[in-house]
Amino acid sequence: MIEQGAPAFDALFNRAPAVTADAPGRVNLIGEHTDYNGGFVFPIAAPQRTRIALAPRADAVVRGWSRDVGDEQAWIEFRLGAEARAGTWGDYIAGVTAALREWNIPCGGFDARIESDLPLGGGLSSSASLEVALLRGLRDMFSLDLDDVVLAKIAQRAETGLVGAPVGIMDQMAASLADEHAALFLDTRSLAYERVRLPPATSLIVIHSGVVHRHAGGEYRVRRAECEEAARRLGVRELRDATVGDLERAALPPPIDRRARHVITENDRVVRGLAALKSGDAQQFGALMVASHESMRADFEISTAEIDLLVGLARDADGVYGARLTGGGFGGSIVALADAAKAVDAAARIAAEYSRRVPLHPTVLIP
Ligand code: ADP
Ligand code: MG
Repeated sequence: MIEQGAPAFDALFNRAPAVTADAPGRVNLIGEHTDYNGGFVFPIAAPQRTRIALAPRADAVVRGWSRDVGDEQAWIEFRLGAEARAGTWGDYIAGVTAALREWNIPCGGFDARIESDLPLGGGLSSSASLEVALLRGLRDMFSLDLDDVVLAKIAQRAETGLVGAPVGIMDQMAASLADEHAALFLDTRSLAYERVRLPPATSLIVIHSGVVHRHAGGEYRVRRAECEEAARRLGVRELRDATVGDLERAALPPPIDRRARHVITENDRVVRGLAALKSGDAQQFGALMVASHESMRADFEISTAEIDLLVGLARDADGVYGARLTGGGFGGSIVALADAAKAVDAAARIAAEYSRRVPLHPTVLIP
């Protein structure tokens, strides 16, 4: 969707684009902070996407323009081979070209125009959507030999490398492989996946709290380090390999014990969520979402007062089976599973009540 007044590629670069590509954001239904612990996740593609238009250049320069960051920051530029962290959105582009070089995949200079209808920092992974859209465009333009899974790994490397956000593989796998019609049950260790439809006559509700998070920021990194510490103390490779029994026997010190309990029980909830969705049991899946939120709030401590308020309003709304924070936390969005016939009304009421109680502008992203 090109907004009124936003310049087209031709106006920005004085020529036509050679290729266009896009990729969706994602809504994680359950399985939060499990991906960097070798565990299970269950994302579905968001209807909102990032779109990119590209044209090759004769030199080794990359120039990019984004519609979504404000005029002063709209342009970025760097030279291939000289990618360096700048602390701007250009890091996501330079991260991709630097990662391609690590994989020995050739990539020439290019001009890029970007626009997204995802909220940036809204918990729906605008970052992975941007990385995957760019890689799809480059694959097409330079005829790169890249399958969708390798593409996701390169996109993840862009973020863990040059951007410096220690993210797992969920967001990039979702942007690369998920679609809107079925959720993607993913084993983040083996990368085996399975697509499962939502129960009949149900719909998702996704509402952005109006509070933007930042992954490159400290808390995500702290949680990841705490999980690694817990795995070390439990004597397992990753928390995916530990059980609640292991945790009880080990008597880890707080808050490491709570962090580990979240990941171990969350993994189990994803597996049970898979069974619930396969049998079309919306009630059961909703109960798992509620338990997941409670675990994120009390044990992993990644929720906020605003998100708890939204989740509470959603949970109590007529026609809603369950609700939880979605994405890395510290702001962002909530997801709920609802009766399809009641979802539009419920979402409007939840958002209205939320903005009555806090001075923030919620955005209903789905339905
Ligand atoms: P999330 O992925 O949950 O939206 P992140 O903090 O991981 O949040 O990524 C958001 C960052 O990604 C933005 O601050 C910006 O640097 C970059 N980004 C994402 N989409 C765009 C876009 N359309 N244009 C420019 N930068 C973008
Ligand atoms: Mg992100």
